[in-house]
This record gives sequence, C-alpha cells and structure tokens, in this order.
Amino acid sequence: MIIVLKQEATQENIAELTDHIQNAGLNSTVVTDDFKKLICIIGEKGKEKLKSFLTLDYVEKVIPIIKENKLSDKTLREHQLHDTVVDIKGACIGGDHFNIIAGPCSIQDEENTVKIVSFLKTLDIKFFRGGIYKPRTSPYAFQGLRENGLSILKTVQDMNMRVVSEVVDPRHIEAMLPVVDVFQVGTRNMANFELLKELAKIKKPVLFKRGNTASLKEYLMAAEYLLSGGNPNVILCERGIKGYDTEYRNVFDINAIPTLKKMTHLPIIADPSHATGRRDLVTDISMAATVVGCHGLIVEMHDNPELALSDGYQTLNFEQFTQLVEKVKRIRDFVRLLEIWRK
Ligand code: PEP
Ligand code: MN
Repeated sequence: MIIVLKQEATQENIAELTDHIQNAGLNSTVVTDDFKKLICIIGEKGKEKLKSFLTLDYVEKVIPIIKENKLSDKTLREHQLHDTVVDIKGACIGGDHFNIIAGPCSIQDEENTVKIVSFLKTLDIKFFRGGIYKPRTSPYAFQGLRENGLSILKTVQDMNMRVVSEVVDPRHIEAMLPVVDVFQVGTRNMANFELLKELAKIKKPVLFKRGNTASLKEYLMAAEYLLSGGNPNVILCERGIKGYDTEYRNVFDINAIPTLKKMTHLPIIADPSHATGRRDLVTDISMAATVVGCHGLIVEMHDNPELALSDGYQTLNFEQFTQLVEKVKRIRDFVRLLEIWRK
C-alpha cells in the first residue's frame, strides 16, 4: 500500500501518520524525492484502518501494491518522477547515469593496487573494485588479504577513487565501513538474509549481485530485505546464471536486464567477467549488456592477469580494458540515439 502525500505535507504530518500506522500494527517506510512524498506500508492486515488515513487533509491518495516485492516494484516509482539513482560521492549509477567499476578480483598488495588505480584514473574511471574477503569455491584457494587489506582500500579512497568491495560476514561491516563506498554482496550471499538485514541498517550503497540460480522474483524479494530495512541505495547486478555448457563459466542472462528494468525502479549493472569466465568474451558481452540498457558494468582487470591471485583467466589487461572502455562509450552514444528513436 502506498500513501501518496500532498505536496504541502510537512515533516510533522509524516511523523503523525507514521505513528498512526504503527498504532495500527503495521510497518511503514517513508520514500521521498524532490517532488513527491510517499509512505509505503508493508503488510496488508490493516486495510480497513487504512481507509481512515484518506480523510487526513495532507493525504492525496492511497494505492494498493499487490506485488510481494513492494519497495523494489516499479509501481512505487510510477508515482514519483524518476527511477532510483544511487549517488556515490557525486558519481551516479541509475537513470541516465552510467559508470564502469573496474579492478582486480582480489587485492594483491599496495604497490600493485596503486598502479591499477593510477591507470584507471587516466581513463576517467570513477569506481575501483577489489576483494579482500573472497568467497572461494575451494577452501584451499586464496581467501583474500582479509583485515590486512583494509589499509589498502583506504589508500585507494585517498587517491579520490570510490571503493567497491565484497562483504561476506556481518561481523566485518564495522571495520570495512570507513574504507568502502559500496558494499558488494556476491552471488553466494544473495539469500544470506542476516547479512542483508545488517546492510539494510546502514545507508551505504550495496552492489547486490543476483544468485546464480535465483529467479528474478526471488532476486527482487531478497533486495526487499535491504529496502524494507531502510537502505534505498541498492544497485542490482546480473552476473550470469548456471548453465550446462562447459565452454564458459556461467550463462549471461541478457533477458534479465530489460526485464528487471520493467519490474523495478532500481538500477541494474552487468558483470561480464563472472558471467563468462573468459577474457575473450568480456568485451562483447559488455557491449551487448550496454545495448540492452544496463546502467553500468563491473569488470575484472589487472596489469598482469597471469599473476592475478584469483580469476586471472577472465581478467583483462590494461590494453584490453582500454579497448573495452572505448567500445562501450561508442555503444552508449548509439543507445542514447536508440532511446530517442524509441520515444
Ligand atoms: C567477484 O566479484 O569477484 C565475485 C566473487 O563475484 P560473484 O559473487 O558474482 O561470483
Ligand atoms: Mn572474481
């Protein structure tokens, strides 16, 4: 249920209404943008009581949301002016904004990280990715620098670069909080609801990857844990789903991008590295994802992929990455034209 408030509704009105809602035994989330104020009520039990809210002079209308994923559903934004745009220190993902996130799968050491970040800055890339806690398929594989990597992430931030890094355990959030600008939740943790509940409590953006066997509905319901817990800064990411062909690591579900754009107001980016597991496919899949309207990419790259501590076979070198950026830029120009034609 969405309660749309009149333009002139004040903070006091919102506080009064949320009190009424709570007294009726319902949970509510207030969603605002520059033009509209909405109150979203979770739980349908008190429908009858809701009618009484209509009589309040600062309420414009009450709209039922039949879908289970109430906060991620597109309906919510149809009553506002635009889709969700996540602003990370002045660089945005969502709406008309597009950004590439790039870096190694795992952080290796400070010197190597500084080299990669310096290179990314020459291409005007605004987001660095690098894992320090690695959820590896094998317990014998490199698990990341863990706590020892925190100071390296700080060095990256000090270079005026936004840091995207994976969190695998709620106990790590506190230490990561000052040195991470976007918490990545990996495919293996999409349904780790206790981790999501903790990330919901902080407002820091979450790059939320799709589980590799999750349906889009299950995916959006999982995103709902972040939204309903109070964190609206959610970026979805299609990173490939399980297939049967052994030629590549996963199957890039290109359908997911335009479909999710119809289902939700949240931004959606693509991860061509994990979706293919092959560096020779990464640029083509990046371009394909851009054509169908993703809001950005997350790409694994390294100065010497052969030496990367994880996922080297899907990691681009500097030259390959530069070409990817060039090609994607051209595709973006083309997509902008396409959108004008479509209108
Ligand atoms: C990663 O980004 O390095 C990673 C482990 O991704 P995913 O969760 O998509 O496998
Ligand atoms: Mn990886």
